[in-house]
Amino acid sequence: MLTLAEFGSSRMNRILLVMMGLVIYALFCLGLVRYGYLHVTGTAFVPLLGVWILGLLALMFADATRGRFDAGTLTLSKALWCNIGVVVTAVLVPHVVRLLLLVVPLLGLVYAALHLSRRQMLSIGVVTWATYLTGALALISLGRADPEFEGLMALAFTCMLAGMMVMASEVTALRVAFDRRRRRLNEAMAQLGELAMRDELTGLYNRRYIMDVLGRQKALADRGHVSFSLCYCDLDHFKQINDRYGHQVGDRVLGDFARIAESVVRSVDFVARLGGEEFLLVLVGADKNTAQGVAQRLCERTKFIAIIPEVPDFRLSVSVGIASFRPDERVEDVIQRSDRALYDAKSQGRDRIVVGC
Ligand code: GH3
Ligand code: MG
Ligand code: MG
Repeated sequence: MLTLAEFGSSRMNRILLVMMGLVIYALFCLGLVRYGYLHVTGTAFVPLLGVWILGLLALMFADATRGRFDAGTLTLSKALWCNIGVVVTAVLVPHVVRLLLLVVPLLGLVYAALHLSRRQMLSIGVVTWATYLTGALALISLGRADPEFEGLMALAFTCMLAGMMVMASEVTALRVAFDRRRRRLNEAMAQLGELAMRDELTGLYNRRYIMDVLGRQKALADRGHVSFSLCYCDLDHFKQINDRYGHQVGDRVLGDFARIAESVVRSVDFVARLGGEEFLLVLVGADKNTAQGVAQRLCERTKFIAIIPEVPDFRLSVSVGIASFRPDERVEDVIQRSDRALYDAKSQGRDRIVVGC
């Protein structure tokens, strides 16, 4: 079944709901005038009602042009205008029926608690109360109302309003806490998403994520958009570093290499650690020559990684196999061709770049 919140999620439906509310309220007020429930005559009241409705429509229009109506939120100005209008009408009813009308601004306060800040909600409460007292005092001073009846009604309304403000404050506090928790949850989800695509040690993209990237790049290239080249990199004799200087030094070197790899590519490219001391560079829109240039820079800078300060002569090197994507080939095939080129680089003596066929 369609809930009111779902129905009100469309802009047209929201306008329809507000219009319906206004018509019902106007008819109710005109009924009060017709059956003599108001202090004023119809000729005096109808223009008053007209000004109030036009004012509300103007505020709605102003909010709509500023996009606030789209967001479906109540604004302070609209809430104040609604409550002032209803309270003024209510004060004009010299009968306990007034209490029925006064339920409307009280509900407005709860609605404000759901949409506005606590301070805004409290200011609506205070303005509503002040409007009521001013109206009642004006009627008494004009001799149009019974002071005893007005005193009792003012006391009853003050108690109802105070109770409703306490409840609305609770609602606001709950909403703020809920919003904060939801924001934290969203942040945690974003962090989890980021962690799921990153390699823990180096912070580079992991194998799973780079395979997704390659799938997307292939789709683009197959449609005749931008193509890509791969640089499959493997650090040379990396095992020796672990064996001689320990795993911790090896980990730090992997991190240093990751930073260098990121520094030689452009922001549109992707660098991933496939596992161990193997890395993959996805160079978007690059042909073999461009990829060779990138690999060259990578090889040169890798030599400057300091393994440990006590052994400045130890030079780390990397072997790179390059392959460019061919339209309609599978992602696995282009990876395999770059891997084969890497194998050739290793078997030709390492510390070199081989461009695959
Ligand atoms: P090659 O030139 O033939 O590539 O020789 P290599 O020693 O680099 O290659 P090999 O496959 O023999 O050794 C890879 C080493 O990488 C072995 C393993 O201990 C090390 N390794 C893999 N993952 C990690 C890691 O996360 N941290 C560290 N410190 N070492 C790692
Ligand atoms: Mg290896
Ligand atoms: Mg290696």
